[in-house]
Amino acid sequence: MQTTEQNLQQTDEKYLWHAMRGANPNQANLIAKEAEGAWVTDIDGKRYLDGMSGLWCVNVGYGRKELAQAAYEQLVEMPYFPLSQSHVPAIKLAEKLNEWLGDDYVIFFSNSGSEANETAFKIARQYHQQKGDHNRIKFISRYRAYHGNSMGALAATGQAQRKYKYEPLGQGFLHVAPPDTYRNPDDVHTLQSAEEIDRVMTWELSQTIAGVIMEPIITGGGILMPPDGYMAKVKEICEKHGALLICDEVICGFGRTGKPFGFMNYGVKPDIITMAKGLTSAYLPLSATAVKREIYEAYVGNDEYDRLRHVNTFGGSPASCAVALKNLEILENENLVERSKELGERLLLELEEIKQHPNVGDVRGKGLLLGIELVEDKQTKEPIKIEKINKVMAICKEKGLIVGKNGDTVAGYNNILQLSPPLSITEDDFTFIVNTLKESINQL
Ligand code: PLP
Repeated sequence: MQTTEQNLQQTDEKYLWHAMRGANPNQANLIAKEAEGAWVTDIDGKRYLDGMSGLWCVNVGYGRKELAQAAYEQLVEMPYFPLSQSHVPAIKLAEKLNEWLGDDYVIFFSNSGSEANETAFKIARQYHQQKGDHNRIKFISRYRAYHGNSMGALAATGQAQRKYKYEPLGQGFLHVAPPDTYRNPDDVHTLQSAEEIDRVMTWELSQTIAGVIMEPIITGGGILMPPDGYMAKVKEICEKHGALLICDEVICGFGRTGKPFGFMNYGVKPDIITMAKGLTSAYLPLSATAVKREIYEAYVGNDEYDRLRHVNTFGGSPASCAVALKNLEILENENLVERSKELGERLLLELEEIKQHPNVGDVRGKGLLLGIELVEDKQTKEPIKIEKINKVMAICKEKGLIVGKNGDTVAGYNNILQLSPPLSITEDDFTFIVNTLKESINQL
């Protein structure tokens, strides 16, 4: 069968193995053809506002010709050179990222968020080895968090439904409960979810803990806002036990939460920071693992066998770095980080009234990162049935708004609508999002 405009849907069904296939079997795949600003057009000409920026990644929006131009020019000048040596765009980008991070970090480039996290785990474990701390191999992360699809990043992930068919995964990963101020409001005063990390480190023996990996706000697992002081407490606990704090900024970075990086909302300086997605606004694949200089220095001057023995062919490719530099320039020139903060605050205000709806348990977020937790019953907080959240998503889609949900991957809690639109949305886009969300939820 020759692929034509008419039979694309059947050919797609036949040959393409989609990510998370079956997550929402009642909806046909949207086959996208072109995109501009926040809007994607499918093969039938129907337009959708992409309220998820793809997979939380197209931060500057679609159709940025200057990003395509940056890639083109770099590909013509020099398409590839490995970072076992060096090249100009990677050097400039590493320097630029230090500006964005506001501190002294050394940068290792890879291609995806999963790889950036794998790199962080290897760097952390070897760092402890270099210092003679040979037993520090364990990592602590939180249930409900997602950290990637590879065997280590998936082991760090706290979503059992993504994992149990693929075990055994990487060894040495422990999980604790995440902060959840909707279901456990006491945490705001007690910080018990942070204290638990302290206890687990003690019970496991401090000297066996390599680090903690956390997103500043758990995103894919349900937009879980930490209580004030949570992240600072975790950092303090890490220092007490000699563990490193690894911050996964794969989604929260590059303005998503209204700050350059999510951790900047919470006044801490992580030891290692991983980033991807918004780094290039997904125009080309690129990720980075930023490591505090003290950690890097533990590798310097050692003999050959103590070097970081980690390489990837494509990581930090010249065109990806050139696109990232241009992407950061756009974010800066258009003040998109501040805009994310401002629009996020307005979004929460606009959605205040939807909290009256009997199925809306909670509305929360920071910057252009929003979660709406749907429940069957406000008293018991029983999560809404999956068919009902699918229905809201289908209504939104029918009206031309793509929203997300925390999949069917978080055991027990598949009930959170997610929104993460491009930071460049216009006022009209903003109004469309607010109205469509309200109308669709009101049809429940
Ligand atoms: N970390 C977080 C928080 C993510 O949301 C993701 C992907 O969604 C990853 C890591 C993995 O990134 P990638 O899909 O680029 O491997």
